[in-house]
Amino acid sequence: MTKPRVAVIGSGFGGLALAVRLQSAGMDVTLFEARDKPGGRAYVWKEEGFTFDAGPTVITDPACLEELFALSGRKLSDYVELISVDPFYRLCWKGGEFFDYVNDQAELDRQIAARNPADVAGYQRFLKYSEELFQEGYVKLGHVPFLDFGSMIAAAPALMKLQAWRSVYDKVSSFVQDEHLRQALSFHTLLVGGSPFATSSIYALIHALERRGGVWFPRGGTNQLIDALVRLFRELGGELRLSSPAREISTAAGRTTGVVSDSGFEAFDAVASNADVVHTYDKLLKGDARGRKAAAAVKRKRFSPSLFVVHFGLKTPQPQLRHHTICFGERYRELIREIYGKNSLAKDFSLYLHSPCATDPAMAPPGGSTHYVLSPVPHMGTADIDWAVEGPRYRDSILKYLEEHYIPNLSRDLVVSRIFTPADFQGELNAHLGSAFSLEPILTQSAFFRTHNRDDAIPNLYFVGAGTHPGAGIPGVVGSAKATAGLMIEDLKP
Ligand SMILES: Cc1cc2nc3c(=O)[nH]c(=O)nc-3n(C[C@H](O)[C@H](O)[C@H](O)COP(=O)(O)OP(=O)(O)OC[C@H]3O[C@@H](n4cnc5c(N)ncnc54)[C@H](O)[C@@H]3O)c2cc1C
Repeated sequence: MTKPRVAVIGSGFGGLALAVRLQSAGMDVTLFEARDKPGGRAYVWKEEGFTFDAGPTVITDPACLEELFALSGRKLSDYVELISVDPFYRLCWKGGEFFDYVNDQAELDRQIAARNPADVAGYQRFLKYSEELFQEGYVKLGHVPFLDFGSMIAAAPALMKLQAWRSVYDKVSSFVQDEHLRQALSFHTLLVGGSPFATSSIYALIHALERRGGVWFPRGGTNQLIDALVRLFRELGGELRLSSPAREISTAAGRTTGVVSDSGFEAFDAVASNADVVHTYDKLLKGDARGRKAAAAVKRKRFSPSLFVVHFGLKTPQPQLRHHTICFGERYRELIREIYGKNSLAKDFSLYLHSPCATDPAMAPPGGSTHYVLSPVPHMGTADIDWAVEGPRYRDSILKYLEEHYIPNLSRDLVVSRIFTPADFQGELNAHLGSAFSLEPILTQSAFFRTHNRDDAIPNLYFVGAGTHPGAGIPGVVGSAKATAGLMIEDLKP
């Protein structure tokens, strides 16, 4: 019996997880990746002994990754070591005030009580609510393919009970009063592209996800997780082709027939795209009426903002920094409103500072430290910014701010730096409008209202990754791979 031949386009976490699942199920998978290295947003650069992970650094729900290895009787821990991160995050405000978000209840209670004693009980109620969301939104619905409206109707009572129409910030505010605590419990949506003021309260489940599963960092960096998945895929017999962009998804009689790359046309029984959804419909399916129609529809949706990222290596250690630092600016709501809607860059910023040497000193040469700092910025459809001009200026103002508030002597100790701008998200990753997280995770663009894991018109075309249900973030895209693989295994069984 011949095995089904499947093409997966794109080797982000979602594409890799899908490829591993299909290969583990006995299919013959070819993975096309446009860039010279796998990982997508989890790309890596190495420079002068510094390891710069490009994207995800907060690893949550390791169980969703362990599952990929268990499919073939293997163990994730034989491929990569996950180190527990403590505190999960240090949240900092102006004037040196900070909150260590730890997984120790007594320590959390102590810090909350110091801010506002009434919020200790409020936090307990929030945690219980977050747990309920986790069960409904993640455990039950996180890898369900919402292909028809009926599936949405079936989920509706649970969503109504949990008040999914309210925003994360709104819901958090109903539990705690301290403004900084509200920020501490609501900023997570920004890590998957959503505004805390607009994203459905369902996303408050991230809090329970972290409290239950912990926050982890792979020794050697997130790139080591990507390496582990690639090794697993290859051991299972899968083929990864780097520097091999798909140019077209071929169709005939309403079905995909294969993929055109620079080596020409190759026939496949099914094709799954992990590439950006607009890129897939607009460019890869441009020869098909379905592609043009679906591209027009998806372009009308709201896209998440972009990110401006500065990677930098220092010749000194920075023991005062924790692994993950959120540097809140003076404005929260107003700044976020501008990031999501204003046609220019704000002068102030709220930053996420990554300092992996706090967990793994080998991320930098001996005596040095590796960092990246990211600033959420409007995507290229919201703000028409010439990043070739603005990028270096914006980098300088961010590094100056860090030097003043977090890293004394930063400019003196700087060895290397590089920036990644919205134009790079667009140019390097084919991301529509340079969005960092694909479709914005608002209720009207979630589940059934997000790109379906199987195309509505072309039955052997599938999607996986941040643009599909449940959305961005490693647990999200790995969950989407589970949903898509379930459909493909069922559809392609002999
Ligand atoms: C800076 C940053 C920090 C983040 N931090 C975190 C975090 O701490 N924790 C977390 O969980 N999430 C985080 N995220 C989100 C998370 O990284 C992403 O949601 C997730 O990695 C996206 O995976 P994906 O499967 O959608 O694929 P992507 O990573 O988007 O990969 C898609 C792949 O498709 C390829 N491709 C595109 N077009 C073609 C083509 N025509 N042919 C072949 N290949 C093509 C691209 O080159 C790319 O490799 C972060 C994101 C960013 C940008």
